[in-house]
Amino acid sequence: MSTNTLIPLNRNAAEFISKPKKMLINGKWVEALSGETSQTYNPATGEVITSVAKGGKEDIDRAVNAARKAFEEGPWPKLKPNERAKLLLKLADLLDENAEEIAHLETLENGRSVKFSSAMAPNAAGHFRYYAGWATRLTGETIPTSRPGDVFNYTRREPIGVCGAINPWNGPFMAAVMKLAAPLSTGNTVVLKPASETPLGTLRLGELIQEAGFPDGVVNIVTGPGSTLGNALTLHPEVDKIAFTGSTDVGKQIMKNCAETIKKVTLELGGKSAHIIFADADYEVALKNAANAIFMNSGQVCFAGSRLFVEGKIYDKFVADLADYAKTYKLGNGFDPDTILGPVISAKQKQSVLNYIDIGQSEGAEVITGGDAAEDGLIQGYYVKPTVLGNVRNDMKIAQDEIFGPVVAAIPFHSVEEVIEMANKSIYGLGGGICTTDVRKAHKVAHAMRTGNVWVNTYSLVDPASPFGGYKQSGIGRENGSAAIDAYTEIKNVWINLD
Ligand code: NDP
Repeated sequence: MSTNTLIPLNRNAAEFISKPKKMLINGKWVEALSGETSQTYNPATGEVITSVAKGGKEDIDRAVNAARKAFEEGPWPKLKPNERAKLLLKLADLLDENAEEIAHLETLENGRSVKFSSAMAPNAAGHFRYYAGWATRLTGETIPTSRPGDVFNYTRREPIGVCGAINPWNGPFMAAVMKLAAPLSTGNTVVLKPASETPLGTLRLGELIQEAGFPDGVVNIVTGPGSTLGNALTLHPEVDKIAFTGSTDVGKQIMKNCAETIKKVTLELGGKSAHIIFADADYEVALKNAANAIFMNSGQVCFAGSRLFVEGKIYDKFVADLADYAKTYKLGNGFDPDTILGPVISAKQKQSVLNYIDIGQSEGAEVITGGDAAEDGLIQGYYVKPTVLGNVRNDMKIAQDEIFGPVVAAIPFHSVEEVIEMANKSIYGLGGGICTTDVRKAHKVAHAMRTGNVWVNTYSLVDPASPFGGYKQSGIGRENGSAAIDAYTEIKNVWINLD
């Protein structure tokens, strides 16, 4: 256990959590119509942070009505593109100005170390700046058709309308940013529901959106349980599109609900990403990549490299060295300046991760390092040590289920063909990694992997300009880049008879 003094909570963050948090509906901060509240907890200590409005179906109704009004009557979709861009740029500046507060709120509610949450506001600002650029670049096409007579045919990009967004707890602030930047740049209005565990950063973002001067109703934030709010939002006839990040099971339910009114839907779901280490890799680079790919954010990353395939001739040494590397990560409260890995999000998540470690052992896997951090004195909070499981087969439950914790399943392989086949034997297809110094092998394997993102001799790189999303049960559609513009616009086709 560390004896370090914790970094003091940023003054504005302390002020922010000192009052019960309300929801943002139609430009006003309001309580739930039922008057109910719930509490949020610090995963590093288990202590209550603050109370938050517990919205219900009727609150979704008023948020959707506000978003619909802002879309139909408000200036937003008809605002000149450079005016929309100006607001997005202003919001980006406000994020830079409030970077420490935002970082501290993320560490407080999600647990990740301030070492990493400090990069978040600048990244978020970059994201809004990137999509501010798109607002003035939404062009259609003129199409030379072969119809008889003199006809002029062209397309327009138009916003879809009211977009509902539902987010998870594992990267709550950036998830909110990614659910707002592209739809706002293209003239949509949004109703956003953050995860119950982590609403605070999103609510603070709502305040900055108001400070930037976005019109009322363009962004609405409703807090409360997904089990009721989720259905209300995804079945709502006045919602035109749903964007969801979270578990595959909830994603399936959302897709069914969206079918009722043929809503557009994008889903960013679970993963069990294969990270392939060839014997010819730069050993030290591969070791560091393998560790960071799974252990960052305590493994609560949808594209975490949780299935580690290591070429047979280096398997024993690599797995032993990875276990030693894992032991060097400093586990603790995210406000401890030395902490690299924080807690997992909740007692429930910790128990679920520990259960998987037990399941692994009962399947014949060996715990080379890891397990419950309470053994090491981290009794308060929800800590799991970075865990390396050896002797794993690809058909084991621990190699197929998304554990969503700091647990890597290490599997040996003996040929390129065998590892491609095993890597693709998964219901998921979100991330993937390859470590090799053979450029032909790198491309060949990258092309063969049935997954939306592949990193070679690196891992986890994400950029607002670069599309992100999953194959198979990891999702539908892409966030980021021009792909997100497609996901938030309709294409209107206009024919003019010139004869
Ligand atoms: P969920 O998918 O249950 O939650 C994600 C979001 O969906 C939350 O805002 C949640 O609300 C909301 N939600 C819950 N039920 C519904 C519903 N019926 N309709 C619409 N929205 C709903 O993920 P969990 O947080 O429970 O995590 C469970 C597992 O999901 C993790 O262990 C992990 O395997 C996976 N996961 C994957 C993520 C990824 O990025 N790929 C992210 C998060 C989780 P509320 O918070 O109020 O329940």
